[in-house]
Amino acid sequence: MENTENTLSFKDTQTAFASKDDKALKKAYWLFKMVSRPWLVKIAKHATDIALKLHLPIEGLVKKTIFSQFVGGETAQEADDNTDDLADYGIGTILDFSVEGKEDEEGFDRSLKEILKTVDISAQTVNVPFCVFKPSGVGPFGLWVKASAGLELNAKEMIQWKATLARIDSIAERAEAKGTPILIDAEETWMQDGADQMVELLMTRHNTKQAIIYHTLQMYRHDRLAYLKRLHERAEREGWILAVKLVRGAYMEKERDRAEERGYPDPIQKDKASTDRDFNAALEFCISHLDRIHFMCGTHNEDSSMRLVDLMHEKKIAPEDKRIYFAQLYGMSDHISYNLAASGYNVAKYVPYGPVREVMPYLIRRAQENTSAAGQTGRELSLIMQEMKRRKGN
Ligand SMILES: Cc1cc2nc3c(=O)[nH]c(=O)nc-3n(C[C@H](O)[C@H](O)[C@H](O)COP(=O)(O)OP(=O)(O)OC[C@H]3O[C@@H](n4cnc5c(N)ncnc54)[C@H](O)[C@@H]3O)c2cc1C
Repeated sequence: MENTENTLSFKDTQTAFASKDDKALKKAYWLFKMVSRPWLVKIAKHATDIALKLHLPIEGLVKKTIFSQFVGGETAQEADDNTDDLADYGIGTILDFSVEGKEDEEGFDRSLKEILKTVDISAQTVNVPFCVFKPSGVGPFGLWVKASAGLELNAKEMIQWKATLARIDSIAERAEAKGTPILIDAEETWMQDGADQMVELLMTRHNTKQAIIYHTLQMYRHDRLAYLKRLHERAEREGWILAVKLVRGAYMEKERDRAEERGYPDPIQKDKASTDRDFNAALEFCISHLDRIHFMCGTHNEDSSMRLVDLMHEKKIAPEDKRIYFAQLYGMSDHISYNLAASGYNVAKYVPYGPVREVMPYLIRRAQENTSAAGQTGRELSLIMQEMKRRKGN
C-alpha cells in the first residue's frame, strides 16, 4: 500500500475503544479513576502486602480488577487466549513473563522455561510477533553489575555467570530456529554495559539474515544517540542487521539518586526536552538507515508516535513495512495502538503474565507509575469519558 496521505488521529475514541463494550469501558474508567488517587494506591499497596503475607484469598478480587486491566493472564497460554481482542484489531501480543522471581538458579531456570515457551507460542501464531526478556531475569543482577565494571568473578560466580550466558544462548538459538524476533529489555546503567556487550555479540551471531535479536536503547541517557550511530557503523562494517527498540527509559529517579549518592555524573539527560529531542532524533536516524536497521518505537508519547507516522509518509514507506513496529503496554494508551493498527501500521503490546500473587510487584508499579506519570492517567480518563459521551449521543 502506498503511504501518501496521513489521515490518522489519536483523538478517534471510537476506534481506540472499539474492542470495549459499555461495561468494559466503565470498568476501565473506574480503574483509572482509582489509580489517579495517590493516597488510594498507597493504601491499596499496604493492604495487598498484608493480605499476601497473611495468605488471605485476595486473588479473585485482584484478578477481576487491576489484573485484568494490565495483565493478560496467569499463564502464557491464558494470556495469548485472552488477547484475541488485540488480534481482532490487528495488534500483536508480546508475551512478557512478569514475575520478579527469586534471585536464585531455580528462579532463573523457571524464567528460561517460560521465555522458551513464549518463543514456541510465537512460532505457532502470527498474533505473537515478538518475545521479550530482561537480562536480570535470567542471571543475577549483581553479576551483570560486576561484568559491567570489569570486575573479576570468584569460582562460584563464574559458574553462575556461565549458566546465565548458557540460558541466553539457548533463548537466542531457539528464537533464530523458530524465526521469532526477541526483544532484550534495557535496565539500570550500572548493569547495562555488560548487557550491551552480550546483546551486541548476539546480534553479530543471529542477525545476519533476519532481525532476531532486538537491543533496547533508553534515550533518556545522554550517551545513547552516539551509541546508536556507533552500532550502525559496526553493523555496516560487519554485515549484520541492527535491530533496536527505542524507549525513553524507566529508571530515571533511581539513576539520578545513585549518581548523586556516589558522586558520579548523572547519566540522564538534563531535562525532558533533551530526552524527547534524542528520542525523535533516534527515530529519524533509524528510518534513514532502513537498509540496515529494523526498529520498534516503544512509547506512549503521542507526538513521537505521530512523528514516526509522518516520517513514514515523507519517505513513502508503507505502514505495514515489517522493519518498523510501534509498541505500547497492555491496558495503556489504546488510543495510540488501536488507531495506528486501524491505519495499517505494525503495532504490538507488551502483555505481562504470571500468577496473581507473583505479578503483584509489577501491578503495584504500574499503578504507582500511572499515579506519578503526570497527565497519563488524566489522558486515559478523559479519552474514556469522551468515548462514553460519544456513545450516549448515538
Ligand atoms: C513497549 C515498551 C517497552 C519498554 N521497554 C523498556 C525497557 O526495555 N527499558 C526501560 O527502561 N523502559 C522501557 N519502557 C518504558 C519507557 O522507557 C518509558 O518509561 C515509558 O514508556 C514512558 O515514556 P514515554 O515515551 O512512553 O512517555 P513520555 O511521557 O513522553 O516520557 C516519559 C519519560 O521521559 C523521560 N523523562 C521524564 N522526565 C524527564 C526529565 N526531567 N529529564 C529527562 N528525561 C525525562 C523518562 O524516561 C520518562 O519515563 C518500555 C515502554 C514501552 C511502551
